[in-house]
Amino acid sequence: MTLTKPIYFDNAATTKCDPRVVEAMLPYFTEIYGNPGSRNHSFGWVAEDGVETARRQVADLLGADRKEIIFTSGATESNNLAIKGAASMYAKHPAGSGKCRGHIITAMHEHKATLDPCKRLQKEGFEVTYLEPGADGLITAKMVEDAMRDDTILVTIMWANNEIGTINEIPQIGALCHDRGVIFHTDGTQWVGKMPTDVNTDNVDLLSMSGHKLYGPKGVGALYVRRRRPRVRLTAIQEGGGQERGMRSGTLNVTGIVGLGKACEIASQEMDSERERLLSLRTKLESGITAGLSDVQVNGHAEKRLPHISNISYGFVEGESLMMACKDIAMSSGSACTSASLEPSYVLKALGVGDDLAHSSLRMSLGRFNTEEEVDFAIEQVIKSVNKLRELSPLYDMHKEGIDITKIEWQAH
Ligand SMILES: *Cc1c(COP(=O)(O)O)cnc(C)c1O
Repeated sequence: MTLTKPIYFDNAATTKCDPRVVEAMLPYFTEIYGNPGSRNHSFGWVAEDGVETARRQVADLLGADRKEIIFTSGATESNNLAIKGAASMYAKHPAGSGKCRGHIITAMHEHKATLDPCKRLQKEGFEVTYLEPGADGLITAKMVEDAMRDDTILVTIMWANNEIGTINEIPQIGALCHDRGVIFHTDGTQWVGKMPTDVNTDNVDLLSMSGHKLYGPKGVGALYVRRRRPRVRLTAIQEGGGQERGMRSGTLNVTGIVGLGKACEIASQEMDSERERLLSLRTKLESGITAGLSDVQVNGHAEKRLPHISNISYGFVEGESLMMACKDIAMSSGSACTSASLEPSYVLKALGVGDDLAHSSLRMSLGRFNTEEEVDFAIEQVIKSVNKLRELSPLYDMHKEGIDITKIEWQAH
């Protein structure tokens, strides 16, 4: 098979829409164009049928009930609705009362779509604890338990991290929250569709997901909102026509929703074999690179990690330079949202990775359409480029001569 370049190893940033998803969506642009809110004619009814089929497909993937799915524009909106909506609904004191309105627990290395809503809530009188992960990147139930207070109202911990793929102790954290009567939200954007999910046995109350991370279209997502034990209520953050049981007003993105549903159906059917395949590709990628290069480190817990994400630090090499040198491989330094800035990844820093190594790290994330040939090509390219860059590095020369460069006292000039 010939290799088409560049190759796409950035599936944690977004995925290609599966052609089967596109096919399912097409009739909803032209033939089935009604507004599902139009209750009094058939154009509305058939559009509504499409939406309700999708709602069932999404619910099935999560082990949820159809009525527990709220369609949104993506995980950013789902997180905002879950976090701000729950904080406002379960606040202990009204805004402006001067008292702590409630305590929220999250983690330092969450996605910005969780951190920024939390920061907003701090400005509005809530207190937030940002848990520090272990060096392996994990948040455990014990960490959450130790941070719990009498006035804790909400815990939001992502299921799996988008930069390093590490998997947090979600069922255990959920059980703890249920014991304490605290609402539990998880950002499941990287997890859902890749790993088996059951919101009931996993003790999740609110779960965010996004279409474009699981081979569906961009600009559509969902929020799972538990209806029983406990019945979770949210304050809407967008008001208007009262769609989605008043939690998310606005005419539904019917084509996107149909695509999201189809993407979930495909994920349910193909998850097991796909997971195996991705894991074997990733194992090959990581062992190829670590066998071919000295001074590299794979970041995050070795096993408790999603099968498609690999984050590697290449000592004595600048991540940005390595990316330039590997122009035929699309990968990422930091998350897509932070790669525009020159700050090293805040996720790696939260794990205690030093600035040097954090600057030397790249994420490769595999997906449904990647092949073994592409992995072979990437291993070769990365090794070649790292070796070339190191040849130009005086620090690497010193390191080879046995000088511990962390102990050098640099002279200011
Ligand atoms: C991509 C991503 C988001 C944002 O999703 P959008 O649908 O682009 O808004 C949120 N959280 C995680 C973990 C992600 O990977």
